[in-house]
Amino acid sequence: MQEKSKSNKKLFVISGSSGVGKGTVLKKFMERHPDFMLSISCTTRKPRIGEVDGVNYFFVTPEEFQNSIDNDKFLEWAEFAGNRYGTKKKFIKQCLDEGKNVILEIDTQGAFQVKKQMPEAVLIFICPPSLEALENRLRGRHTENEDAIQKRLHEVKIELERAKNFDYRVINDEVERAITELEKVIDEEHKKC
Ligand code: 5GP
Repeated sequence: MQEKSKSNKKLFVISGSSGVGKGTVLKKFMERHPDFMLSISCTTRKPRIGEVDGVNYFFVTPEEFQNSIDNDKFLEWAEFAGNRYGTKKKFIKQCLDEGKNVILEIDTQGAFQVKKQMPEAVLIFICPPSLEALENRLRGRHTENEDAIQKRLHEVKIELERAKNFDYRVINDEVERAITELEKVIDEEHKKC
């Protein structure tokens, strides 16, 4: 039992294309599983309306971000659509040492960096039902201008290719169904611990 609680098998990395609805899936998952810790990333991106510093992200300046890179504070970091995003080592290590389940919601480049350093991490990719559905959802969000949408669609195609190397792929055709599948994947991984 002691061994089990200290297992690093409890690090789940969730990636998904922009606008795929992974935020909604994760939000509902977290509401139902309050024992899971969701890592809060640092980003140089400006907050969107309604986003709160220290809740959605730690919003930092490019200088602060660079300083954290120089001081080896990140478990992983990546540039995505012109901004930098990173996961601080300290929080993840602390949670895992305490035997907690940790979820990282990061892009595919970051996911592979984590897997390289911690092969026991489980990579889960949330897929859109189709590229058309994803483009519609992205436009319907009205949070980005056309240039940003084009950049994101370009990234989406790259990410779908990278998703082939993930441990699991979950299609978000319907939120409740996707959550149930995600729960099943996590249950299966816990049984392996
Ligand atoms: P958004 O700007 O829409 O919040 O996030 C853009 C992308 O950055 C998403 O794919 C999101 O998963 C990813 N992201 C968020 N935080 C991190 C992080 O700490 N590291 C990496 N590598 N990607 C992240």
